[in-house]
Amino acid sequence: MSAALPFLPFSKPTIDEATIAAVGEVLRSGWLTSGPKVAAFEAQLSEYFGGRPVRTFNSGTCTMEIALRIAGVGPGDEVITTSISWVATANVIIEVGATPVFADIDPVTRNIDLDKVEAAITPRTKAIIPVFLSGLPVDMDRLYAIAKKHNLRVVEDAAQAFGSSWNGRRIGSFGDFVSFSFQANKNLTTGEGGCLVLNNADEARLAEKYRLQGVSRSGVDGIDVDVLGGKYNMTDITAAIGLGQFAHIEAVTAHRRALARHYFAQFGSEFEARTGAQLPLADFDNSNWHLFQIILPDHGPGTRAAFMRRMADEFNVGTGFHYAPIHLFTLYQERGFTEGMLPVSEKIGRLTVTLPMFYAMTSADVERAAAAVKAILTK
Ligand SMILES: *Cc1c(COP(=O)(O)O)cnc(C)c1O
Repeated sequence: MSAALPFLPFSKPTIDEATIAAVGEVLRSGWLTSGPKVAAFEAQLSEYFGGRPVRTFNSGTCTMEIALRIAGVGPGDEVITTSISWVATANVIIEVGATPVFADIDPVTRNIDLDKVEAAITPRTKAIIPVFLSGLPVDMDRLYAIAKKHNLRVVEDAAQAFGSSWNGRRIGSFGDFVSFSFQANKNLTTGEGGCLVLNNADEARLAEKYRLQGVSRSGVDGIDVDVLGGKYNMTDITAAIGLGQFAHIEAVTAHRRALARHYFAQFGSEFEARTGAQLPLADFDNSNWHLFQIILPDHGPGTRAAFMRRMADEFNVGTGFHYAPIHLFTLYQERGFTEGMLPVSEKIGRLTVTLPMFYAMTSADVERAAAAVKAILTK
């Protein structure tokens, strides 16, 4: 019966007609690369983040790499991060020549455990990259107290946290470097893209250099290159999509929070005890509900694959997994990380599954996804 319903993906972007028209205008305008649309998008983002400088880029990965470069992080330095993230979070540390150090996660929030962060600090530690998994921030007061005490820079991997807040303050409006991604699945998407919130005009100028070959211009034909930059600028085509998406961000966040509440209502208070599964932290104030993730009851190797296959084959419902532990990837095992180092990350990395959650989803979709989960997990 359920299989007759159309496939329900775990994520799907919503692009309105006004945005499609705005992209058409850019394509007809004669100016495709970084120009007036990028400037307008950056101005709106800066206002949204309380007037802090914001620069856009072509991914939410180069944003973090550039933040590390601006902070002067390089060979000989250690950067503490989480293993439960998209691999970009740790790759950027290696990319700048520094050493990633993984701290285990908190089993309830599934974010980096700040006690473990403190324990991992050495004289070589230069920065922390916390990840706000599914849009749920870490304890930001504690994070910045640790950073201040040990004189560390922070690059917030807020890729999933556009629209999230911490006790009434918007993520991005305070703190050190804050990096957002606009990749296709994110709450605000430009297809691919990202932005970095910076502390001051000097950092912003440096960010501009790093994103475009290190170039600085002056006068009519003045040009110089004094740092090694790359090619990371956002196009006006992309920025037009961002402006169109930005107009809906409050509605998107509110709708996702309502869908998350509906998931909890559908699962009911008995779900965890009856199935052995674990629901996410029920936070409807801070989190933007980028993802709705449950931890499956452990039936040994293959638990998640079997669950995901049944969701798709029997109920036509898509699922995802965010994420496989980074420290167990070959590249990282070759750098000395081994199984058993981060028990909480390893368990959650094996059993976490992402249920459908996106702006165009309806209450009926939530009911359908929750019913499928319950049918599979309830004996
Ligand atoms: C999406 C994402 C990234 C990378 O962003 P891109 O724009 O794809 O480069 C990094 N970290 C996390 C946690 C993400 O979800």
